Amino acid sequence: MNAADRTVLATPLDPLDLLADRIDALLPQTQCRKCGFAGCRPYAEAIATGSAQINRCPPGGTPGIAKLASLLGRAPLTLDLTHGTEQALRVARIDEALCIGCTLCIESCPVDAIIGATKRMHTVLPQVCTGCDLCVAPCPMDCIAMIEVHPPRAWSSDDAAVARARFHRRTVRLAQDKLDNEERLATKPVAKLRELDGRDDLTLEQSDQKKAVVQAAMERARARRATVAAPSGGAAP
Ligand code: SF4
Ligand code: SF4
Ligand code: SF4
Repeated sequence: MNAADRTVLATPLDPLDLLADRIDALLPQTQCRKCGFAGCRPYAEAIATGSAQINRCPPGGTPGIAKLASLLGRAPLTLDLTHGTEQALRVARIDEALCIGCTLCIESCPVDAIIGATKRMHTVLPQVCTGCDLCVAPCPMDCIAMIEVHPPRAWSSDDAAVARARFHRRTVRLAQDKLDNEERLATKPVAKLRELDGRDDLTLEQSDQKKAVVQAAMERARARRATVAAPSGGAAP
């Protein structure tokens, strides 16, 4: 290991990041966004920086607030009901007779708890559904209902660990899909430029003009991708 490597490894971790890790470890990981943030981790970061109170997570409820208060050395608060109420654990169920296979529910599920293919009936895997509700609103057939789990049981830390792992795996997969798609699309303009090079029905000037148009379009697309890729903050849309 050279000196530069040692310097990198010795760089102290950001205390706010470490605190956000500890807070995130206490959150339920349903990724339901009821707290007003785009998931548990952004909410943890907001608590760590002091920009959000500890009482915005209905799935965590009163016990969750107590854990956060204990970690942060603060007095517990009552749940802020503007973010929802504590409820018994529920899971989504699809009325398969009505499902048209549009896949919108799959796209909205943060933990890949729905299986199905385009124009095929969809089904929820109840053992991994977090009860986040996020699939209900996008369904154009109103055929997803949230059903209480029987026998009733509390959301456990094991459930949270499974949800965290599934959410992480999905996030990585979506990021990879996005990269793959961008790479695939990026090859098309290059192929277009090659095709222009091979055209014998164009004068050199015409070929150069067309190539300039393609290159300008590529530049605009690159700038747009850079804008889209820029961080947009933690608040849920
Ligand atoms: S409200 Fe939902 S997204 Fe927000 S911290 Fe709680 S479980 Fe996570
Ligand atoms: S199936 Fe619906 S309720 Fe269950 S985790 Fe997925 S989006 Fe949430
Ligand atoms: S959103 Fe509704 S209609 Fe579309 S696939 Fe899911 S359950 Fe079926």
